[in-house]
Amino acid sequence: MARSYTAEARRRGLGRRRDRIGSIIERLAEEHADAEIALTFHTDLELLVSVMLSAQTTDVNVNKVTPALFAKYKRPEDYLAAPREDLERDIYQTGFFRQKAKSIQGAMRVLLEEFDGEVPRTIPELLRLPGVARKTANVVAAELGEAQGIVVDTHVRRLAQRLGLTREEDPVKIERDLVKLVPRADWARFPHLLIWHGRRVCDARRPDCPGCVLADLCPSRREPTG
Ligand code: SF4
Repeated sequence: MARSYTAEARRRGLGRRRDRIGSIIERLAEEHADAEIALTFHTDLELLVSVMLSAQTTDVNVNKVTPALFAKYKRPEDYLAAPREDLERDIYQTGFFRQKAKSIQGAMRVLLEEFDGEVPRTIPELLRLPGVARKTANVVAAELGEAQGIVVDTHVRRLAQRLGLTREEDPVKIERDLVKLVPRADWARFPHLLIWHGRRVCDARRPDCPGCVLADLCPSRREPTG
């Protein structure tokens, strides 16, 4: 499916992805000036925990749980001092609570043992934390102002494919394509722009192509019917 969109871009004479990317970013930045991470946090530690909790659930769901959670657990030591069952109960609503509680406590232990209790900023360091995979590491690093890659979630994947920016299906390969294409200064905000465009306009099932600011740059634009 994705492959046909890059070919379609050529067929429709839209130009190479390298020539379209600047306009795509510019227009999305104008359209979604408010695009930013939807998780609510105030410290680096709260950011890390929020992102870990957001696996397999919505940011809205995480934001319902975190005010009480962060009032109770302020330092890595607080998470470690709590019985696992208490932490599980406190994050229950975000789903997969047993695995998440285990990962959070494991991550807190490594934070204390290896990083003086501070959230590290590089991807290799972040990946040392139990339960932190590449996507989580990318999100945390970008929010801390140290983007070292481009976050690929379900919206980023769908839009990158629809816009003919990648032919790949695998998130790691999609990221590899995007970092070659997107200027480094935009690595942090680019995923937010695609995510918000995906939520507001380019829905998975019903993309609003007639109302889309990227319509003339998009190889998968659907023509209005009827
Ligand atoms: S033109 Fe349609 S498919 Fe392309 S980005 Fe816009 S809404 Fe999505």
